Amino acid sequence: MTMRNKTGLVEPDNDVYKTLLESTRAIPWKIDWQTLEFSYIGPQIEDLLGWTPESWQSVNDWAERMHPDDQAWVVDFCVSQSKAGSDHEADYRALTRDGNYVWIRDVVHVVRDDNGEVEALVGFMFDISERKETEQKLLDLQKELEALSYQDGLTAVPNRRMLDSVLEQEWLKARHNQQPLSVLLIDIDFFKQYNDLYGHIQGDDCLKQVAEVLSGAATRSRDFFARYGGEEFVMVLPETGADAAMKVAQRCQRRILAAQIPHQQSSASQLLTISIGSGSIVPTQQDQLRDFIEQVDQALYQAKQAGRNRVQAG
Ligand code: GH3
Ligand code: MG
Ligand code: MG
Repeated sequence: MTMRNKTGLVEPDNDVYKTLLESTRAIPWKIDWQTLEFSYIGPQIEDLLGWTPESWQSVNDWAERMHPDDQAWVVDFCVSQSKAGSDHEADYRALTRDGNYVWIRDVVHVVRDDNGEVEALVGFMFDISERKETEQKLLDLQKELEALSYQDGLTAVPNRRMLDSVLEQEWLKARHNQQPLSVLLIDIDFFKQYNDLYGHIQGDDCLKQVAEVLSGAATRSRDFFARYGGEEFVMVLPETGADAAMKVAQRCQRRILAAQIPHQQSSASQLLTISIGSGSIVPTQQDQLRDFIEQVDQALYQAKQAGRNRVQAG
C-alpha cells in the first residue's frame, strides 16, 4: 500500500521501511526513553550475536552484553550524551551468546517530541570487527617497527640509537643518586684481517657470535649491552664501580676466549680476541657524558697500543 503526502510524492508504507531496514547489514533498534526499554531491534542481531531479538528487553540487556573493559565508559558516555540530547556513536565489544566478542559501532540518534523533550533513541549497530582487526594489525606492525628501529639488524642486540637513550638516562640517574656508572667499550682485535682472510659473510657471522657471547656477560638486570657500530660494542653498568667493572670486562674476555673463534691472521693470538676500555664515574653537575665516553675511548686506544687482547681502565 502506498500513500501520497502533501507534496504529492509517493511515500512507501511501513512494510517497505521494515523490509529495507531488516535487509541491511546494519542492525536498527529503538529505545523508549521513558521506560528505557527496547521497542524494536532488527532480527539481524541474532545472526551477528546469537541473542534473539526478543531477548533485548531493556537497556540493561544492552549494557550487560558488553566487554567489561568497555562497559563503564560506553554506558556513561551514551547515557550522558542521550540526556544532553546529542547524537553520538561508540565502538565497543559486544558479547555473543557463545561467549565471544564482536566489535560494534553503535550510531545513535536522539528523537525529540514537539516540546523538544527526548522521546526515544534510534540507531544502528554496525559490525566493525574486520576494521578493528586491520587496526590491530597496524598497531602490532607499528610496535614491531619501533622495536626494530632500536635493534641492530645484524646481531639483533640493541643498536646505537637505543644505547644513546639508555646512556643518557643512566647518566642522569647516576648523577641524581650519586652512584657510580661504568662503561666498557669493546673492540674486536684485527677484525679487518679477519674479514680479509675469512670473507665478509663469515665476518658477519663472527659479529653475531661475539654479540651473543658478550651480551651473556652482563649479569644485573639493568646492565645494558649494545652494538656501538662496526666491530665495536658497549656495556653500560649502572651502580657499578671501577673494580666491579674490571671484573665484568675480564669476564667478557674469558667468554670470548672460551668461544674459541679461530683467527689465523691475528698477531695477538691464534684465536679471536677483544680489547676493552673501561671507565667509571660518579657524575657531578660539572661532568659531561660526552667527555666521559671520550675518556673511555682513550682507554680503549691505550689497550690497543699496549698490544691488544687486554683491558685498560681509564
Ligand atoms: P684493531 O685491532 O686496531 O681494532 O683493528 P681492526 O682491524 O679490528 O680495526 P679497523 O677499524 O681497522 O677495522 C674494523 C673492520 O671491521 C673493518 C670493517 O670491514 C669491519 N667491519 C665493520 N662492520 C662490519 C660488519 O658489519 N660486518 C663485517 N663483516 N665486517 C665489519
Ligand atoms: Mg674499531
Ligand atoms: Mg677492531
